Amino acid sequence: MAAAVANGDKGFEVPKLEIKFTKLFINGRFVDAVSGKTFETRDPRTGEVTARIAEGDKADVDLAVKAAREAFDHGPWPRMSGFQRGRILHKFADLVEQHTEELAALDTVDAGKLFAMGKAIDIPGGANLLRYYAGAADKIHGETLKMARPCHGYTLKEPVGVVGHIVPWNYPTTMFFFKVSPALAAGCTMVVKPAEQTPLSALFYAHLAKEAGVPDGVLNVVPGFGPTAGAAISSHMDIDKVSFTGSTEVGRLVMEAAAKSNLKPVSLELGGKSPVIVFDDADLDMAVSLVHMATYTNKGEICVAGSRIYVQEGIYDAFVKKASEMAKKSVVGDPFNPRVHQGPQIDKDQYEKVLKYIDIGTREGATLVTGGKPCGENGYYIEPTIFTNEEMSIAQEEIFGPVMALMKFKTVEEAIQKANSTRYGLAAGIVTKNIDIANTVSRSIRAGAIWINCYLGFDPDAPFGGYKMSGFGKDMGMDALEKYLHTKAVVTPLYNTPWL
Ligand code: NAD
Repeated sequence: MAAAVANGDKGFEVPKLEIKFTKLFINGRFVDAVSGKTFETRDPRTGEVTARIAEGDKADVDLAVKAAREAFDHGPWPRMSGFQRGRILHKFADLVEQHTEELAALDTVDAGKLFAMGKAIDIPGGANLLRYYAGAADKIHGETLKMARPCHGYTLKEPVGVVGHIVPWNYPTTMFFFKVSPALAAGCTMVVKPAEQTPLSALFYAHLAKEAGVPDGVLNVVPGFGPTAGAAISSHMDIDKVSFTGSTEVGRLVMEAAAKSNLKPVSLELGGKSPVIVFDDADLDMAVSLVHMATYTNKGEICVAGSRIYVQEGIYDAFVKKASEMAKKSVVGDPFNPRVHQGPQIDKDQYEKVLKYIDIGTREGATLVTGGKPCGENGYYIEPTIFTNEEMSIAQEEIFGPVMALMKFKTVEEAIQKANSTRYGLAAGIVTKNIDIANTVSRSIRAGAIWINCYLGFDPDAPFGGYKMSGFGKDMGMDALEKYLHTKAVVTPLYNTPWL
């Protein structure tokens, strides 16, 4: 049984939080929805309502796109120098850093994320992304072509236009900056739809962007539901590109809508079921800690969760024992409490989905080593859970919760085959001291991110995105900037040159 402190431990302070921004942000102003409707956002610690948010739908998306189109076609943002855009993005990053505590608290009451993690990782990470792309904004350029004919040819890199960003709830800040930072640096204008569960920080960021000097109409934020506001973005005739992060199922709908409307290009960052492979020569304590972090970070609500763990037979039994001891020591409770390791699942739906998978695991014959039950008196808390099992639903389907599926393997070839036996290809971890094994396995796994002797090795300069049904297109790195740029070829005849 995990040491749940969900409602007992009162020895910590919850910061006083005022929810300042609850309306749609369109053309530089906070406005009500055209319909006048609102929806509730709830605190996963208790299930109680935190705030009522203006509910955007198609009519509001139309207004936001109109503002973004005007800002793109006639406004200063795409026309100013990259250097100037970079300065504004640096100012935006400064403001984000100045509001770190408040922003981290918003993500905690919206998503149940650990407050300490928000302060140390999510919010500074968002500012870092802004700074990375601020530095890139004045280095966007095409190239001179070596033409076969007597012509001067060169390429121009131009912003793609109005972008629609649709993002999920699990990392509200990180997902916002994955999308918005490179698109702003490229000179695009945009409409962002945060997930309906987590609109609070995105609205705050809209306010900070304006304060930093991002012109009206460039960055619009329209909270609302997927089938209404989200679908209005993916099917909009005047949006030039959609950048989506979320489930594989909804990614398919987004791509269909884009194909059926104006054939806008889409990039899809989708689900995962990422393997971590632990070889016999690994340092056992280090491997157990790494796998624990890979599975339980953000209560398993992370697209790259290492939720299929393959351990080589020589250390398998010792690994199961230690992993179970570590899971039992994990403290589940209020994410504002600095002693807590794991907060609540985002909402009732997700909580019930995770418990359903635990039930499926048991019914399909997996052995429940530890956890498996809800904990706490209210809110959506679940014990860190470990199953040992063979290939089955819990080892194939994305659970998005604190559930580890531990399996045994014998040879390197078997590990590679098992790691690749999934429809997903987002990330993978390898734990070994043997450089030959690390090199062979990292090149053999069909996934977009490979972490050797570490996990969650994210960095602004490391492109991140999936293979197979985990999607296509990259966030972060210079590859992400390319998503928001068109390449134009310009050719003009040359006469009297001695160099032909
Ligand atoms: P989701 O697909 O249900 O929702 C994602 C977003 O799409 C939300 O904003 C939602 O409102 C919107 N949406 C829903 N239906 C829509 C429709 N018909 N048209 C347009 N938009 C629509 O995903 P979720 O539950 O919010 O997030 C969890 C999923 O996101 C997991 O599968 C996870 O792996 C994935 N994810 C992937 C990455 C990555 O980088 N690959 C990162 C984070 C999360």
